[in-house]
Amino acid sequence: MLDPSSKSGSDEHRAWHTLDGPLESPVITLSEAQDYVRATLVALRPVDVALEEALGCVTSERIIAREPVPGFDNSSMDGYALRAADTVVAPVQLRVTGAIYAGDPSSSRLSAGEAMRIMTGAPLPLGADSVCMIEEANDNASGHTVVIGRTIKVGEFVRHPGDDIGVGQVLLEPGVVLNGAQIGVLASQGLESVRVHPRPRVGVLSTGNELSGPGFALGAGKIRDTNRPMLLALLRESGFTAVDLGISGDDPAEIAAALRRGVDGCDAVVASGGVSVGDLDYVKTVLKDICEGRARWMQVAIRPGKPFAYGIAGRNATPIFGLAGNPVSTRVGFEMFVRPALRYLAGRQEVQRPTITMVLDCPMERSRDAKLHLVHAVSRLHDDGQWHVESAARPGSHLLNAVASANAIVMLPDGEGVGIGGNVSALLLDLNASPPKSGH
Ligand code: AMP
Ligand code: MG
Repeated sequence: MLDPSSKSGSDEHRAWHTLDGPLESPVITLSEAQDYVRATLVALRPVDVALEEALGCVTSERIIAREPVPGFDNSSMDGYALRAADTVVAPVQLRVTGAIYAGDPSSSRLSAGEAMRIMTGAPLPLGADSVCMIEEANDNASGHTVVIGRTIKVGEFVRHPGDDIGVGQVLLEPGVVLNGAQIGVLASQGLESVRVHPRPRVGVLSTGNELSGPGFALGAGKIRDTNRPMLLALLRESGFTAVDLGISGDDPAEIAAALRRGVDGCDAVVASGGVSVGDLDYVKTVLKDICEGRARWMQVAIRPGKPFAYGIAGRNATPIFGLAGNPVSTRVGFEMFVRPALRYLAGRQEVQRPTITMVLDCPMERSRDAKLHLVHAVSRLHDDGQWHVESAARPGSHLLNAVASANAIVMLPDGEGVGIGGNVSALLLDLNASPPKSGH
């Protein structure tokens, strides 16, 4: 059984393992928390995935070509198939003996003094060695003869077997994140499926007695469930399969049932809410039970997103993430903990967003609190070749709208902040900043 706590023998490390109370849990750094998660993960076992489902999946083995591409001599132009030797003295008139189209069998034969109309992709007739493109041929109105205006070189406009891919050639190495063109290459081999790490299926649960779905008026004290639709979308945006586990009230049995459903049907589960120190914050304790001790409730030195519960459950050591419930905290938790972990499950070697040094065009003030501040920001690549932070969201973990158009998360270290012109380190979420909001 995988027990992440066994990685360190220190008493201090064991103390962190407790889920029973906040006071026994010393604050740990972001990278310590990320390392803790990482140490519990194993990439998903490779399976055969249909090509149409394989975009973005990671190959797990070397793929060798078994068919040559092209498979036979064929024309790369619409024109006339001929023997180059017949055109040594040009112009020359040739007899047109027929036409060959793409998909025809390559059984036609061509003799000296003859030409055949040929379309792009059609097999070259036996006896022919080159093609004159239609634009350079002067065909007779009857279609029985054609005048070739210049000397044609042997092999002109002919595509040869194996030009692109030879049998036995290595097409893909393990660890390749499949793009559309690579899926095209696999299709050119007649493959229906490819052996890859499967796309992680990830269950999403919102917890909280206050949460309501859409479509009806809110009752007194209730709020809309924001995190579940957001997380489902963020997961899909990152290439994972998102599974809706619904909303659970602040009830340990209900939370446990929902998490178990997630563990049974998914490769990972993300829950939001219920991991802080409130009276009804049951997710962290339920996680401890479900994970049979293979879980940890952490206080991470970041803002927002400080409380974080994590464990692995079931036969497959399915990771369960318990993120703080304020929507900006949930989003940050997704970026810091969930997305990198899921990319690891998906077989990716590069799991982090690109980290870029950016120039501040606006001041970023903060006060000392021994935490790394994770500030959503709008950034853009400027003509000076540098990324600039043009504006930053107001702090407040409940202010989701304020961060929704951000395309970067600035990692602002402890201190007094950084002024205009200063450098900061930021995770780039999206290459493009959203256009400015109208009315601003
Ligand atoms: P919790 O982490 O459960 O203490 O929740 C912290 C704050 O986030 C509270 O104000 C909750 O009402 C809010 N919250 C929790 N879950 C959600 C959610 N799914 N959508 C919107 N707000 C939430
Ligand atoms: Mg709650």
